[in-house]
Amino acid sequence: LTTGVRDMAELAARIAAGDRRALSKGITLVESTRPDHRAEARALLAALPALGRPAMRLGLTGTPGVGKSTFIESFGLMLADDGLRVAVLAVDPSSGVSGGSILGDKTRMDRLSRHTGAYIRPSPSNRTLGGVARRTREAVRLCEAAGFDLVLIETVGVGQSETMVANMTDLFLLLLAPAGGDELQGVKRGIMEMADLVLVNKADGALKAEAERAAADYAGALRLMRHRPIDPDGFPKVRTVSAMTGAGLAEARSELETLFNWRRKQGVLAERRRTQDLGWFRDEVDAGLRDLLDSDEDLRAKLADSARAVADGAAPDAAAADLLDALRARLSG
Ligand code: GDP
Repeated sequence: LTTGVRDMAELAARIAAGDRRALSKGITLVESTRPDHRAEARALLAALPALGRPAMRLGLTGTPGVGKSTFIESFGLMLADDGLRVAVLAVDPSSGVSGGSILGDKTRMDRLSRHTGAYIRPSPSNRTLGGVARRTREAVRLCEAAGFDLVLIETVGVGQSETMVANMTDLFLLLLAPAGGDELQGVKRGIMEMADLVLVNKADGALKAEAERAAADYAGALRLMRHRPIDPDGFPKVRTVSAMTGAGLAEARSELETLFNWRRKQGVLAERRRTQDLGWFRDEVDAGLRDLLDSDEDLRAKLADSARAVADGAAPDAAAADLLDALRARLSG
């Protein structure tokens, strides 16, 4: 064994033993783009023990201000106080652009982050969506190996990040604001269709009645939208919660557990994860091919030339075929 591989076996063992600093070190490693770190990250992932009981991988999305961090804090604390271990990962592809991360501000989930049963990790910054996806999947595996019962992946409701998170989780949760009517139109159909459970937050005080009206509207819209024969009756469901007072959180938990256990018993969960693994495999191959192109100076130059030629009116398909011929020649030569 080389030193690196031995180190990775030791790091994997520490992660599996529940060592937080080892987990953070492992996640930092899988987030790194340095080629030597990539090799170590792969060795680390390969050294992780096989999973026992799967963690619940839960995706959560909602527009800024809807109450995601307040929800994660109170929901996470409820589970952690019950003895469950909760990991929170954030996915924020915009963080590289804006310079801030949705979880960059540690005070956002102050109490949860200090709970011994919880682990919170901000989004890797300066990444493309594809880059974030690759690394987040690996971070999920590390958290599962570390024995977390729930791995919650939070994403802010922008662009394609919800689809990406839905493609790496078992269940998908959509948090909405207490306003029906126009607001209902504003929620993208695709996001509604991905949701297993819709929670209308802020159902407290003066907003309670409005939240209940909105929930009824959303439930109506969902009934028209989708029927999933694989799920038990009533799903996808819409419920009201107050992340602030905690109202409805226990019910939301019970709905999620019901659906998760059902899918596990029916084999739907395993099938979904297999499909997701296939997608992951394809993404890795695609990204690896890109890396291969980028790692060769001549090919990189040819890629830039071809792109310029296409911008100047050359046929895109012919330019691509030409470039791939050059790659093939490289590989065989
Ligand atoms: P995020 O941007 O989605 O993470 O939203 P935050 O959790 O930061 O919450 C945005 C604002 O909504 C904050 O001022 C919260 O205090 C408030 N908020 C969050 N949850 C609730 C709730 O259940 N009820 C009420 N009334 N306000 C809430």
